[in-house]
Amino acid sequence: MSEALDLIVIGAGPGGYVAAIKAAQLGLKTALIEEREVGGTCLNRGCIPTKALVHASETLENIKQCNTLGLLVGETGFDFAKMHARKTQVLTQMRTGIEGLLKANKVQLILGRALVLSSSQVQVGEEILQTKRVLIATGSKPARIPIPGAELCVTSNELLEGEGRFYKRLCIIGGGVIGMEFASIYAALGCEVTVIEALERVLPTMDREISQNLAMILKKRGVSIYTGARVSGVLQQDEGLVCQFEDKTGQKQIACDGVLLSVGRRANTEGLLAPGLDLQIERGQIPVNGQYETCCKGIFAIGDVIKGGVQLAHVASAQGINAVHAMAGKDMPIDTHVVPSCVYTNPEIASVGLTADAAKEQGTEANVGKFIMSANGKSVIENAPRGFIKIVADAKTDVVLGAQLMCSRATDMLPILSCAVANKQTVQDLLKAMYPHPTFCEGIGEALEDVHGGAVHILPKRR
Ligand code: FAD
Ligand code: NAD
Repeated sequence: MSEALDLIVIGAGPGGYVAAIKAAQLGLKTALIEEREVGGTCLNRGCIPTKALVHASETLENIKQCNTLGLLVGETGFDFAKMHARKTQVLTQMRTGIEGLLKANKVQLILGRALVLSSSQVQVGEEILQTKRVLIATGSKPARIPIPGAELCVTSNELLEGEGRFYKRLCIIGGGVIGMEFASIYAALGCEVTVIEALERVLPTMDREISQNLAMILKKRGVSIYTGARVSGVLQQDEGLVCQFEDKTGQKQIACDGVLLSVGRRANTEGLLAPGLDLQIERGQIPVNGQYETCCKGIFAIGDVIKGGVQLAHVASAQGINAVHAMAGKDMPIDTHVVPSCVYTNPEIASVGLTADAAKEQGTEANVGKFIMSANGKSVIENAPRGFIKIVADAKTDVVLGAQLMCSRATDMLPILSCAVANKQTVQDLLKAMYPHPTFCEGIGEALEDVHGGAVHILPKRR
């Protein structure tokens, strides 16, 4: 039996490793158990590898357009294996960085599969570790649907593995975040992409105008999008696969080389708990209270594995930071109700807080300011695709309730507005600052001005 720890964290994704480092900084003697690679889904099979491919494919698109800038470039093309080699180089560099941080913060990293015996004992292989508390951060894995031929489909894991899978004709089941990011990447590489979405629009949780614009932009790039569609099966044929589905207009089938299943993610709780441990699990997910404690005292959970959470890397990290603060008897520093959400399509999409529709639904009268980025100098200089910035503010108090952006650098600009929503700042608060020229951020200033009809670079509305 080893010496007791203050905390054992299970899973070294962005939830677990950040929580472990923060716990150590707060003075807790902490161990982190990971069965695969440090960095979890996010670093190894999620956020970072996809964005490495997004960056490469967008660079190719930009090079193809560089004639407009007066540049002459010879033959363009790509080497898929080299794109993936670069991706792997990025992951390895970042993984080494995290391992160094864990060591420097004196977090004990244990490689192996954890089995939770109780709030004070965790088993890894033959060893039983003693602890005062356990934090479960075991994340999630791709969900599958029970259709004939499901075993012929790949998930984001396979598309991102090793040298990746290149499909000249890719059919994507599920037009959510993963589906649309891969649609954007593969379309930029000149592939024939088809998206099949069950609901009435792609990115169904985003602002309606964003969904419609994205669908329109991708269709112009040759992507076929079917919404309100029900997939019935995937068949193997001599020349490849066939994906069968039905939409409002009837039965359809698409011939393709690969089918990506991107229909959501399931929590990782299988085989995690020792038989007899009475920890409540609902549909594979772990319910927690406001301090991230499960129904078993001393066992906490955060990130993709918890019930009702938003499955994002920064959300997992924020929950981890809050959870260990609560364990150390301190106030939780982050407002986890304000969740910034980004989609790395081309153009980028970023959203926080309430949309105008959501404000209306909850009975809040709201003013909306909107700026079309084709009037933004930096967007014109960079020949950026069509885009806009929308700000939603409370009509009575002028407090910023939310923002939706669809334009170049939307994801990097969003934090200005997340800070405003989290700190309940008003439109006037945000207009006290100047927005430097020429920047994409000037669009935020103009959208804020437009909340009260005072934007300079928008034609006056007819009275
Ligand atoms: P995970 O990152 O899943 O980590 C859990 C870890 O626990 C894993 O390493 C696993 O091996 C380990 N583990 C599981 N069980 C055990 C056990 N019994 N013992 C030991 N170890 C165990 N989010 C964003 O915010 N931005 C993005 O751009 C983004 N892009 C994404 C793209 C893709 C393709 C995917 C799939 C996801 C993306 N996400 C993105 C979501 C993001 O990756 C997850 O929300 C995030 O990784 C969740 O973090 P986590 O720490 O809860 O779990
Ligand atoms: P998702 O929930 O975003 O999208 C799944 C989509 O599949 C939905 O639109 C749903 O209506 C559709 N769907 C479900 N069943 C279907 C069926 N049988 N046929 C057709 N369509 C069907 O899930 P995802 O795209 O798999 O992503 C999983 C998680 O990973 C998300 O929660 C997301 O937050 C996270 N993620 C985030 C980012 C980012 O932040 N940029 C990128 C990728 C993934």
